Parts: sequence; structure tokens; C-alpha cells
Amino acid sequence: MSDEAGGEDSLAAVFRRLIANYGPISLQQYMGESNARYYSGKDPLGGAGDFVTAPEISQMFGELIGLWLTDIWMRAGSPETVHYVELGPGRGTLARDALRVMRKQGLSPEVHLVEGSEALRAEQRKTVPDARWHDDMDSLPTDAPLLLVGNEFLDALPVRQMVRTAAGWRERMVGLEGHRFVPVAGDRPMDAAVPQVWLEAPEQTLIETCPGAAAVVDEIARRLQGQGGAALLIDYGYAEKRTGSTLQAIRAHKKVDPFALPGEADLTCLVDFATMAEVAVAGGARHLGTVTQGAFLRALGIETRAAQLCAVAPQQSSAINSDKDRLIDEGQMGQLFKVMGLAAHGWPGGAGF
Ligand code: SAH
Repeated sequence: MSDEAGGEDSLAAVFRRLIANYGPISLQQYMGESNARYYSGKDPLGGAGDFVTAPEISQMFGELIGLWLTDIWMRAGSPETVHYVELGPGRGTLARDALRVMRKQGLSPEVHLVEGSEALRAEQRKTVPDARWHDDMDSLPTDAPLLLVGNEFLDALPVRQMVRTAAGWRERMVGLEGHRFVPVAGDRPMDAAVPQVWLEAPEQTLIETCPGAAAVVDEIARRLQGQGGAALLIDYGYAEKRTGSTLQAIRAHKKVDPFALPGEADLTCLVDFATMAEVAVAGGARHLGTVTQGAFLRALGIETRAAQLCAVAPQQSSAINSDKDRLIDEGQMGQLFKVMGLAAHGWPGGAGF
């Protein structure tokens, strides 16, 4: 469906009117409103959708996360009241698989799902019927430790980009060239918003920050400090700081132009895990480490779990093993995806870091 098919009310039409009347909008606004529209209306996951995530590839993903949470909870003395919190749970598949493993081990937390999309909440009601839903983290309970998970959540939050021009640093905005959206440099000086190390970078240097991701990680860290608990944040991203735009759009499993169809493709950016770790520590949490998804899942025993599943269903062995490889191979999700572990001070370290 093109934006024209969406008519006057399509997000593209709204953005065009806005830009024509008031000038370029920030990339942050463009990405934020595009994703809010994109996720509100549909379930984008799976073969028939736009992209496939780790929990949708194999039950082993959620199970191993459930094991990790159970292990750290036990070593923290098995506190009786504890809350499982998931940010952006998609279809609820990870929660379902993780909770099954946790309950088998005697860990039965209250379940809290932070989800902005009505369409996905409807899916989650089927997979995790006993959950409570939240629009954001503010309304999460404060009375007990949190076991928190977010898979491919931070990458969907809107970024700001700054670009070094001949006249100094400017915010990267979205303007119009005829009918088309194009990135343009804003006209206000932004040098004051750029970290010292980048101030004298060469022209065209672009830096990206994600204020929304930093706010979420800060909130997680403060809650871990105040309530106890542990968190796993899993996303595709980088562990060393870098420059350059990482914005991309995915539609029907293919990369498309992020400026072509706002609200109709999934816009994501790589997560800057180095900065997220700094934010977490500043907020009062312990950074247990950030490792590749491949290393993490291997350390938690994915090979053994795959062998068990193959023994139960030998006719499915090749599918089970190829799903496992998809999660951990370097050329697939094993290297690009990272797992960041956080815990409250006073809680034990986690497995795999
Ligand atoms: N974790 C799931 C889904 C990843 S897609 C999986 O791995 O399959 C991103 C998820 O985050 C979706 O559930 C989407 O609706 C939710 N989401 C994106 N931006 C959000 C926001 N600002 N507030 C709450 N949920 C959001």
C-alpha cells in the first residue's frame, strides 16, 4: 500500500502538510510518529509480516532467558514476591516460553507487560492471559524486585542525529524535495548538544543518540537500585562508540528507504550499548556485562537444549538445529545481536557474562 492509498490521513500526508507549513521536522519526531503509527495498527512479526525476532524463531530463546532469570533469582535467595516485566513483548512468545520454565522451577512472578500497541496487546492476551498491561514503566509496581526483559525494544525508539556542517553542528531534520522526504541539516546551531570529543570532527560526521533508550535504561537502573532485581536487554547494536547513521527501515523482510513510507515500515537503529551501560551505572545499577547473543546462548547451554529437543522429536532435528544456528551463528544473529545484563547492587552476578 502506498502512502497515496492511505489518502489525506496517511502519516505521509500529515508530515507533508506539517513540513510545507512549518518547515522541516526533526528525525526524532519523524521516527517516533512513524513507529507509533506502524505498531499501533498491526502485528508486524512472523513470516507473513515484516520481520522475524529471536523468540519467534525458536522456543529455546525464551526458555534460556527464563533459566537465566530463575538462576539469578535463586542465588538472590528466592524472594517470594517478584515481578516479571517485559518491554515491548510483541506476540508474548518470549514471556510464555520464559514463564513456563520459571514456573517449573518454582518461580511464579506477577507478570507486567509494557506495550504501546493495541494490536499486539490483543495477541499478548492470548499467549500471556494472566498479565497486566502498562503504557510505560511509570505504572509498574514498586514493592518488590523486578526480573525485566526487553528484546528488540530499544532499537524501535526514536533517535536524534547531529551532523557536522561547514557552519558547525546541526540537527538532522526531515524536509521535502517536491513530494519526497529528504534528510536536511537544520538551521539552528547545535554545537552545545554535541559531546566534547566530537566537537572538532570533520565535516559530514554524523552522530546518533537515542534519548528514549537512555531514559528507559535510566529508569530500569533506578528501579533495580530501589527495588532489587535484574534485567536483560537484547538488541542488535554495537559495544564500542561509533559515528554514522544506523537508521534502517524493514518492510516484508527487505530493507527499504526509511524516508519512503512513514508509518508503513519498521524503523530501527542499532543500540549504542556502550552508552547504555554508562547510563545504567550512573542510574545506580551494576553492569554485569554486554556479550554477543551467540556467546550468551552458548554459555546458557543452547546446544544441550537443542539436543534434548531433537531427542524428543527426531524427525524435526534438522529444523531445530537450523533454528539454533540462526540464533547463534556469527553470520546470522549471533554476532550483531548483543545481550546486556544489569542487576541491583547486592544481587549476584548472572550466568553468561
Ligand atoms: N519483543 C518482541 C517484539 C519486538 S518489536 C519480540 O522479540 O518478538 C517491538 C515491540 O516494542 C512491539 O511489541 C512494539 O509494539 C513495542 N513498542 C515499540 N515502541 C514502543 C513504545 N514506545 N512503548 C511501548 N511499546 C513499544
